[in-house]
Amino acid sequence: MEEKKLVNEVEEKECNSKENNSKEVVSKNFIEQIIDKDLAEGVYETVHTRFPPEPNGYLHIGHAKSILLNYGLSQKYNGKFNMRFDDTNPTKEKTEFVESILKDIEWLGANWEDRLFFASDYFEKMYECAVFLIKKGKAYVCDLTPEEIREYRGTLTEPGKESPYRNRSIEENLELFENMRAGKYKDGEKVLRAKIDMASPNINMRDPIIYRVAHMYHHRTKDAWCIYPMYDFAHPIEDAIENITHSICTLEFEDHRPLYDWVVRECEFKNPPKQIEFAKLYLTNVITGKRYIKQLVEDGIVDGWDDPRLVSLSALRRRGFTPESIKMFVDMVGVSKANSSVDYAMLEYCIREDLKLKKSRVNAVLDPIKLIIDNYPEGQIEYLDAENNMENKELGSRKIPFGRELYIEREDFMEEPIKKYFRLFPGNEVRLMNAYFVTCTGCVKDENGNVIEVHATYDPETKSGTGFTGRKVKGTIHWVEATTAVKAEARLYENIVDEEKGKLNEDGSLNLNPNSLVVRECFVEPSLKDAKAYDSFQFVRNGFFCVDYKDTTSEHLVFNRIVSLKSSFKIKK
Ligand code: ATP
Ligand code: MG
Repeated sequence: MEEKKLVNEVEEKECNSKENNSKEVVSKNFIEQIIDKDLAEGVYETVHTRFPPEPNGYLHIGHAKSILLNYGLSQKYNGKFNMRFDDTNPTKEKTEFVESILKDIEWLGANWEDRLFFASDYFEKMYECAVFLIKKGKAYVCDLTPEEIREYRGTLTEPGKESPYRNRSIEENLELFENMRAGKYKDGEKVLRAKIDMASPNINMRDPIIYRVAHMYHHRTKDAWCIYPMYDFAHPIEDAIENITHSICTLEFEDHRPLYDWVVRECEFKNPPKQIEFAKLYLTNVITGKRYIKQLVEDGIVDGWDDPRLVSLSALRRRGFTPESIKMFVDMVGVSKANSSVDYAMLEYCIREDLKLKKSRVNAVLDPIKLIIDNYPEGQIEYLDAENNMENKELGSRKIPFGRELYIEREDFMEEPIKKYFRLFPGNEVRLMNAYFVTCTGCVKDENGNVIEVHATYDPETKSGTGFTGRKVKGTIHWVEATTAVKAEARLYENIVDEEKGKLNEDGSLNLNPNSLVVRECFVEPSLKDAKAYDSFQFVRNGFFCVDYKDTTSEHLVFNRIVSLKSSFKIKK
């Protein structure tokens, strides 16, 4: 219910039409309003969107927003969704990234069916478009050096200067462009430029470069080309070839829209696509930039692109986030035109909400200390009933072993209790979850004064499930039986950058949090013995955990903490 409210609130805020006050009306975001209008006015008959990543890195949570938005719209309007690799810049692209990207998108549930495309398959068509522009007198080959081009471009306050090569004849341009393709020039020696307006207030329109010479190997077209189209020229053509209707991109392309429109208009595409910009998703104190992540990987600070402290989709999956939680998060954030940064706690709220009723609540002791129940028969093990999830009876119950020696959390005992401490201290009685009441009788210390064992006695009358109502206790603690417990590793995470001081140090380096990973030797109840990679559980009082797929072996279970149970994220009512 609460979550529903927030979603409505966010959507209402985004909604441009003021009349939509009724709670019954599902508000639409500004992109849906544009689409509705286009469909109503017959600008387009259907909705056809795409997700166009460059295969130069792993996808992150921000990309998930774009994927779910584009795919979601195609579903909502019964349209089509294309998966397209924007692989027109061979410098940084790799097949490894193509594979990881497809895996992530599939995991998120965006189904491109048979609509998988590569922009590099359109290189010939793009070349034809360029020739078409030259023939119309709308493009020319320019010999200025990159520095000269920059100089001639002018500034925000001063108009640019026309290139001396601007008025070459169509014939000369056709020949030079053909020579560019044939490999007659070195990198940077010549470029093809759109002939638009060197005095335009929009710098993007000052005769932008549309083709460059680059003798580079391409991961798909190999050595077939030594000229490559620039993004601003290639992207609208890719959209137009695929009959995309709404080309949704992020805000930094807003100033490029006039060029987008110019390209599809001058190339004379019928029913051309329309570019719509929305704000990128930023998370507070989280690293998403490829440059920084690459650095962390190379410096060995993180364990690859899927280190659970990162927010790449592969890292979130490894940590135990679900596609459902990411969808919920993206919905809560909403679609808007204003850049803002969302608190990481909101993502944590979403995964807690998603797992709360789905996962079994089991016992694991992360900082173990022994509790010995002196009046319990030595060598005896009994099996007690434990419900798997008190809030979801459908998950059933299991038997957990109980005996004379248990492990409990170190923090559940205090020799000298502080105020309002209701757990174990000498003379105090607590409930052992799903078992008995025990009264603490004292502890044993090592030569340095560290507590190594806690002792207690139990009251057989107080067995859980027998309806004992004789007296109440204020504290309940969890435990695992020592002889049957399974040793495991728990990895506890915090943000990789220091929350208090901000992401960057003064010298521009990352301000790393030394506690971003804490490894604990822990004990888990025997029901977890055969847990498989990606299985997840709620560890009572300690949070949600997921079996690490990379480092878990049949002898050694590794659990990643997805999120603790405490929330710092408050839903506004
Ligand atoms: P980054 O700059 O973070 O490395 P990118 O923009 O270079 O990402 P692309 O492969 O070009 O990555 O992005 C594919 C699509 O994802 C683009 O349409 C882009 O606008 C969108 N996108 C990228 N980052 C975000 C984000 N933070 N929020 C929403 N959409 C994003
Ligand atoms: Mg990009």
